[in-house]
Amino acid sequence: MPLRFNYCPHCKGRIIFRIDIQDINTSIYPAPVYIFHKDDSCNRLSTFYVDSKLRVSYKEIDKKPGGQKTLETIQ
Ligand SMILES: [Zn+2]
Repeated sequence: MPLRFNYCPHCKGRIIFRIDIQDINTSIYPAPVYIFHKDDSCNRLSTFYVDSKLRVSYKEIDKKPGGQKTLETIQ
């Protein structure tokens, strides 16, 4: 499962999450997946869009339609 390093669009904090091909709907790219920033000072959800290699293409601060899974960030 690849690790991804990025930034939370809410608090701008650094985040790390694991993503697997089974977490996304592979019939559409970039595919949305929900990222929950698990942190006491944030605890908010945003939508990240990934390509077929599970690289983040772009992100939206709110919950957009089309995602099928929520991934929690890891420490
Ligand atoms: Zn955050």
